[in-house]
Amino acid sequence: MSPDYYREQYKWYRAHGICTCCHQRDADPGKALCHECAEKKRQQSANRRADPERRESIRAEKKARYQRARQEKRCIICGKDTYRDKSYCYEHWIRSIRIARERYKERRWKRMQKK
Ligand SMILES: [Zn+2]
Ligand SMILES: [Zn+2]
Repeated sequence: MSPDYYREQYKWYRAHGICTCCHQRDADPGKALCHECAEKKRQQSANRRADPERRESIRAEKKARYQRARQEKRCIICGKDTYRDKSYCYEHWIRSIRIARERYKERRWKRMQKK
């Protein structure tokens, strides 16, 4: 992948108001990142100064929260009841489909440009 590709991708997500980091959630208004990724970035820079043991426990806690959400059949994003057997609630499931579709369209469009 060329650096150009990443720049284009960044611009695309930015223009669509989607987080340029996780490509999953809507970005905060006027920002390139969603609230969670902004928070994550902030924590990461704080963690760099913190000891590795603490960092490891944070990671384990996050993983546990994710697994608990899946086990209890709650949306892994917002914690609401999941839609059917999905890992998301209806709202986030619809959004994940929409994002996947837009990604697909974008990829196809890029391929067409090359020809
Ligand atoms: Zn994000
Ligand atoms: Zn949700």
